[in-house]
Amino acid sequence: MAFWPSVVVATPAHSGVGATLTYRSELLLASGTLVRVPLGAREVLGVVWDCPTEPPQGLTEAQTKTVAGVLDGLPPLNARWRQLVRFAAQYYQRGLGEVALAALPPQLRDLDAVQLARRLKKQQKQQAAKAAPVDTTALGHDLSDEQHEALRALEAAQTPVLLYGATGSGKTEVYLQATQHVLQAHTEAQVLVMVPEINLTPQLEARFRERFEPLFGAGALVCLHSGMTPAQRLAGWLAAHTGQARIVLGTRMAVLASLPGLRLIVVDEEHDPSYKSQEGARYSARDLAVYRAKVETEALVAQAALLRAGALPDPLPDGEGVGAPRCRVVLGSATPSLETWHAADQGRYLRLSMPARIGGGALPRLRLVDMNHQPKGAVLAPPLVAAMAERIARGEQCMVLLNRRGYAPVLACHDCGWKSACPHCSAFRVFHKLDRTLRCHHCGFTERVPRACPECGNLDIAPVGRGTEQLEEHLASLLVDVKRPDGGPARVARMDADSTRLKGSLEQQLATMHSGEVDVLVGTQMIAKGHDFRRITLVAGINADSGLFASDYRAPERLFALLMQAGGRAGRDAAFVTEQGSASELWVQTWTPTHPLFAALRQHDFPAFAAQQLAEREGAGMPPYGHQALLRADARTQQAAQAYLNAAAQAADGLPHRDEITLYPAVPLTIQRVANVERAQLLVEAVSRGALQRFLNAWQPVLLACRSLPEARGLVRFAVDVDPLVI
Ligand code: ADP
Ligand code: ZN
Ligand code: ZN
Repeated sequence: MAFWPSVVVATPAHSGVGATLTYRSELLLASGTLVRVPLGAREVLGVVWDCPTEPPQGLTEAQTKTVAGVLDGLPPLNARWRQLVRFAAQYYQRGLGEVALAALPPQLRDLDAVQLARRLKKQQKQQAAKAAPVDTTALGHDLSDEQHEALRALEAAQTPVLLYGATGSGKTEVYLQATQHVLQAHTEAQVLVMVPEINLTPQLEARFRERFEPLFGAGALVCLHSGMTPAQRLAGWLAAHTGQARIVLGTRMAVLASLPGLRLIVVDEEHDPSYKSQEGARYSARDLAVYRAKVETEALVAQAALLRAGALPDPLPDGEGVGAPRCRVVLGSATPSLETWHAADQGRYLRLSMPARIGGGALPRLRLVDMNHQPKGAVLAPPLVAAMAERIARGEQCMVLLNRRGYAPVLACHDCGWKSACPHCSAFRVFHKLDRTLRCHHCGFTERVPRACPECGNLDIAPVGRGTEQLEEHLASLLVDVKRPDGGPARVARMDADSTRLKGSLEQQLATMHSGEVDVLVGTQMIAKGHDFRRITLVAGINADSGLFASDYRAPERLFALLMQAGGRAGRDAAFVTEQGSASELWVQTWTPTHPLFAALRQHDFPAFAAQQLAEREGAGMPPYGHQALLRADARTQQAAQAYLNAAAQAADGLPHRDEITLYPAVPLTIQRVANVERAQLLVEAVSRGALQRFLNAWQPVLLACRSLPEARGLVRFAVDVDPLVI
């Protein structure tokens, strides 16, 4: 008797969600079994999706190749994992094989069954040597009343949970104790903790290790992120897949790890844009985490029902009452994404608030600097420089933030306040240096850059937020006469993607900051995240307007989050601040101090800010009220890229739900050309998520067909970005 397993292999991006290949096998293979199969001249890794006893219609034995080998040392990938991967492929419009195989560690592709068996054995031995669980008493802090209430509510929640807590309110402690409870209640349970960037928060990993290695052994926690070597990734993945690892701490890729005992998912800093993948399958790890928890819960509930009905022989897992077991998901942030906030407003998520900082450290006071009243051309306002000098002299640290990256340039006149608004949209047009045009990325409206300000005739119009390039040097020169308490000169250091590229340099730079060697740290968003610097009492955001007036409607949301996060670095140590007698401050330089964002920031009032932004979004039909996707095209010429997109839009006529969809004209990307490839995009908008999904599914084959149209000559590739973060 023969079997005809359908196998998922790494296929090109657009080969369709249903794309499996049929092979022949003498053995019945369980769904989820990892196999090696011939593909062309190679042998590749595949996942068995199904194993029927009949060949698909029209397929003969002679046409079908045989499965080359089974990785039988490994348990199959379970049905919940397969459902997750299938959903991710379908929702984000990518190939099933591409998503499934990308979720497996690359090294798994190179191992045959024998090598794998050896690897597993070694790992088990190491685990046995390490595993020395000791005392089972609870470690950690006694929870504050707020934390206690949040933990209790979280553990009773029937929906995803938003843990809305100020920076330093003790959210991490709540994650730790929730994790401990779950792991102690079920011997097989696993917890997934996701963070935006592991390298930026070595303290978090240390806290988890310190807490759980004494309880569950040294191998109980593994990390999964792209900075690991292939061997480390394989080891981490295997530990998770076999259940040896009880806790997986990882970045967005970890959401697709195989975790058979998953009972709790924590998404820390859930608003962080790095949860959205910007290449390949452009998935949101936060959104997939919510979906994953739902799938796991449904399976647990179904299993519990079977157990109660006596249909399954096994007793209830230990610690489990008759109440429905769940896999819970917690999204934590001091500045939640508006999508998540809106879901909580609607009651789809349970919002738990922790407004107070542990230790009573006050949130910093906002000092808004009106740049209209500062000396012409000043990058840093004199009062800000003076305030920094004072703090350095007292032995306190300052942080200066340049929120420069990721914002498209908008033109402005600093005399009259004119900005390059689009006359047709509530958006600002973007300055395209290449052909000196102003283009709206929403409707496509384009004009040549005016010679002078259209309002007042001023010749000096410039992109918002320019002139901060040399900030580090500039600051050093401004502070040249300032002395630290030890009499030494003030020291300024810079930290950004460039300065931390070398391995170990980030850790080193963080260390100099922690040790107090550095007095002023200058950097991009990177410095605002997570770090627990004790001695910072002043944080300054110096070109906030580049986040206020950007083409991207999410820019204010990001600016608010960034400034709150950055402010959260200041005054964390109430004892230090009081001893010094100085309140912590958040300085913000702006040309538009009356912007409502600042009023909310002054009060640390995220709910007010969110309500205002959501009202604006609702009025404009923007997410989370409307739903969006981008069709992107890369081509040898801009003309070809746009022609392809516009042809694809034309060809969408008559597709299902077309009348519920708005297709905008193609526009170039802000960074229009990269490595001699021209890039363009077309915005797709829909009132309902369901209509968008069904339309995109029907559009996918059309997109493929349009590649061979004559006007698309020169097209390199296309991609769909569902729920894009940047437009
Ligand atoms: P968040 O994650 O909200 O920024 P953390 O959990 O990191 O906050 O807590 C901030 C600081 O307060 C940490 O140094 C932590 O060890 C400490 N902490 C948290 N909870 C408690 C508690 N219940 N009692 C004492 N200290 C606490
Ligand atoms: Zn003007
Ligand atoms: Zn427009």
